[in-house]
Amino acid sequence: MLRPIVKYGDPVLAKPAAPVERIDDEIQRLIDDMLATMYAAPGIGLAAPQVGVPLRVCVIDLSVGQRGGEVITLVNPEFVVREGMQVEEEGCLSVPGFTASVARPSRVVVRGLDRHGQEREIEGTGLLARALQHELDHLEGTLFLDRLRGIKRDLIVRKIRKMQRAGKW
Ligand SMILES: [Zn+2]
Repeated sequence: MLRPIVKYGDPVLAKPAAPVERIDDEIQRLIDDMLATMYAAPGIGLAAPQVGVPLRVCVIDLSVGQRGGEVITLVNPEFVVREGMQVEEEGCLSVPGFTASVARPSRVVVRGLDRHGQEREIEGTGLLARALQHELDHLEGTLFLDRLRGIKRDLIVRKIRKMQRAGKW
């Protein structure tokens, strides 16, 4: 089932999400819905707060469903390693229509549970490192906009506020 993606300005996107206590049927449904919603958008990553659920769950698929076996589902993920630096253009399904260059570590290792409750460690470089950091940021209530320098961020936020006032956001 597709779920509506909440946009910048919704308080659920600005709050740290809570750990998942038990991977039950409700969490399985959430993961299925998040994957369907991500593919439909289309996007390469989605975090539970983006569908209004304040839990530490995220999904990533750099192939957007084109290659089987590339889907990554993480429950209660944490960074083990963050190193190096890359600067690339980045966007977010909750901030549609806007992108910006964001500096982030170029290699990360993340540890978390998969949807079967098995502990997994995922290493990512380049785009995967970026996607992992972007989604884990969502679980802390941080958007890519929050990683921009003041003036770049202010410009985008001003445009969004204008769209909000016009009822177009
Ligand atoms: Zn995002």
